[in-house]
Amino acid sequence: MTLQRAPHRNDELVEDCIFCKIVNKEVPADIVFEDDELVAFNDISPQAPIHVLVVPKAHISTVNDLDEDHAGLVGRMVLRAQALAEARGIEEEGYRLILNCNAGGGQTVFHIHLHLLGGRQMRGFG
Ligand code: AMP
Ligand code: ZN
Repeated sequence: MTLQRAPHRNDELVEDCIFCKIVNKEVPADIVFEDDELVAFNDISPQAPIHVLVVPKAHISTVNDLDEDHAGLVGRMVLRAQALAEARGIEEEGYRLILNCNAGGGQTVFHIHLHLLGGRQMRGFG
């Protein structure tokens, strides 16, 4: 029920959203996990040997649009990333989870997504 209350502030934006199109199977993606709430797929421009995006099916533009009602969803995004890291065998060596917010934070797709990066040594932020 939380999903249905996700913000849809701009219908045109939702229609144009590349991740909504992936969720709706209008655009192909290399999907590695899917359930009622989330989809995860390999990043088209991987920044590490493992680079998966964990994406809610509901269109939520940025982290700024999250509220208390989304706490469970965000928790399950992290737990899904943890499970995917374990499935890929990198849970012990380690991995990085990133949520970028707005242009200054490096966000380029305005439908929230959690980056799972691993398979190489991560360095400092740049
Ligand atoms: P961000 O900069 O945090 O908004 O991350 C957006 C990510 O989405 C980038 O790492 C892109 O490479 C990735 N991306 C953009 N379009 C696609 C697509 N069609 N399929 C998979 N990944 C994509
Ligand atoms: Zn979207």
